[in-house]
Amino acid sequence: MLSRPGEGVVPNILIIDDDPLMIEVLASMLEDMGKITGASTGEEGLRLATAEPPDLILLDVEMSGMDGFETIAALRANFALHDTPLIFVTAHSGTDFETRGLNAGAVDFIAKPFHPPIIRARVQTHLTLKQQADELRRLANVDGMTQVANRRAFDVALGQEWRRSLRTGQPLSLALIDVDHFKKYNDRYGHIAGDDCLRAVARSIKGAAKRSVDLVARYGGEEFTIILPGAAAEAAGIIGQRTLNSVSGLQLPHEASPTAPVVTISLGMATIDFDQIVPSHIEGGTSTKHLERITAVADGALYQAKSAGRNRMMSASRSALDLMGESGAP
Ligand code: GH3
Ligand code: MG
Ligand code: MG
Ligand code: MG
Repeated sequence: MLSRPGEGVVPNILIIDDDPLMIEVLASMLEDMGKITGASTGEEGLRLATAEPPDLILLDVEMSGMDGFETIAALRANFALHDTPLIFVTAHSGTDFETRGLNAGAVDFIAKPFHPPIIRARVQTHLTLKQQADELRRLANVDGMTQVANRRAFDVALGQEWRRSLRTGQPLSLALIDVDHFKKYNDRYGHIAGDDCLRAVARSIKGAAKRSVDLVARYGGEEFTIILPGAAAEAAGIIGQRTLNSVSGLQLPHEASPTAPVVTISLGMATIDFDQIVPSHIEGGTSTKHLERITAVADGALYQAKSAGRNRMMSASRSALDLMGESGAP
């Protein structure tokens, strides 16, 4: 169920207007509806919005320097601000003007002079819609049971990180994790205890991969992944080992496991280097085939970890060039 507006965090409202008095008037009108920040130029507004993305922007159209239309174009060009609702505030009332504002990406229009109840009602509508959109985005990207990213979010993130590495030349590592003898765990303790176990394992993995860029996801069933942007083999190995220790350190009893008396995982770590990538490779774009090959490298290492006795990590390194070749990973 979607949460109701007003629950949880206080929304951020950014008012961009070159008239300080106007900011003051609007801020006093809306002060109980969110945390209000004022900016007196389009440039400053852009800077503040980039530093802390607001939930709603009120933007003056007529400003010296960057005007409202230029400001909205710059805001929309920023990926993180692409969906931020924005209300134009203007003394103009012509329909051409309003059309131009709405086409530029404004969700609503407020004409001066202000009628406070109308402004408050419109602001509330857009704050509510923003909160519902945020909640839907979260539900679309998070695995309901374990609360880590879901498979869909993983697929999107892996594509983004692959493209980022192509541009920057930074390495990219991917861990594929599988709980050892989990069928036996369900058989011994029951499916509900199995679900609890998966939640605990997910939390533990999240605690071990704690750089802000790392993404932990549920890949499916009792399998998890960690995307480790910028991690070369050594750093990836450290994080992988920490993850193994973290899960076995939970000391969740698993009497039916032939591997250990507690729940353990096996981990396959793939590290891809982008050393030999040149611009012509990047122009070729990204195909799902390349992404599947990264996962296949990690899966191969995971298979080795399982065969070698479980409760361990195996690593494999490849160059991005090999993954992009016709034959795929050698
Ligand atoms: P291995 O060490 O080779 O990985 O053995 P395993 O038993 O873990 O492997 P297998 O793939 O045969 O079994 C996976 C089990 O995970 C079977 C399935 O019922 C269980 N499982 C998958 N998803 C869930 C889940 O959401 N909840 C619970 N409780 N069990 C799940
Ligand atoms: Mg103005
Ligand atoms: Mg499995
Ligand atoms: Mg398993």
